[in-house]
Amino acid sequence: MADPWRRYLAQQIELGGAEVVLSAGQRGSGAVTAPGVEPEQTPPPPPPRHADAWRKGAPPIPGPGISVESPPVTSALAALPTLEAVADRIRTTHCCALCPARINAVPGYGNPNARLVLVGEGPGATEDAQGKPFVGQAGNLLNGILEAIEVPRDSVYVTNIVKCRPPQNRKPLPDEIAACIPYLHRQLEIIRPKVILTLGGTAAEGMLGVRRSLGELRNKVHTYNGIPLVVTYHPAALLRNPNWKKPTWDDVRIVRQLLDS
Ligand code: URA
Repeated sequence: MADPWRRYLAQQIELGGAEVVLSAGQRGSGAVTAPGVEPEQTPPPPPPRHADAWRKGAPPIPGPGISVESPPVTSALAALPTLEAVADRIRTTHCCALCPARINAVPGYGNPNARLVLVGEGPGATEDAQGKPFVGQAGNLLNGILEAIEVPRDSVYVTNIVKCRPPQNRKPLPDEIAACIPYLHRQLEIIRPKVILTLGGTAAEGMLGVRRSLGELRNKVHTYNGIPLVVTYHPAALLRNPNWKKPTWDDVRIVRQLLDS
């Protein structure tokens, strides 16, 4: 990989965990040196970050995929005027069997005026403990990916298909998704983002209402209520399978172009 920025991104994604947001120049700092041993040379600074570096080799925006309209939300949900009101309802309601076991409901977090909304599968243990989405290891990787396409994390809104943690992080069941997804529909109605990015198969299938592999759903611009929707891998899956990093990098660069369009 000749381009230094690509190499930098690959390192970021490679590292995973908390180090994901560290630049190459920061890694290794703070190492303890044994007495009498020459301290390591100061690591080189990270490669310069040129604006728009993500554009180099970015794939063109692909053609259209599935087009869906969300079902109308109930009048009770439609009466909730803000994201905070929806979040309060989620936190104070039990809508399926996942709710009684939660420490915290995880309604979503981020900018109420976001141009980009990211939709994951469901909270994990760290998210359940903190009540915020994508704050664990997968969240660190997500931050690195957003940074690489020059989209600040605080400019986006992040949420999940289900708002309570499934036991042992299993996939949410169809009836759990059916019970919870109206909250997501209402959140998207309130935010009206420019682009939606789904993370992983469960989110893609839930949003598009189909049962298809991620491979079949990727590399298309679907629409949800007229909003362009792109499908990519879940960050946790990238930690397990490095072969999915390159397609994910392509997908998020498509998202970046859609945001610019
Ligand atoms: N995985 C998800 O799908 N969502 C989270 O919030 C955290 C991990």
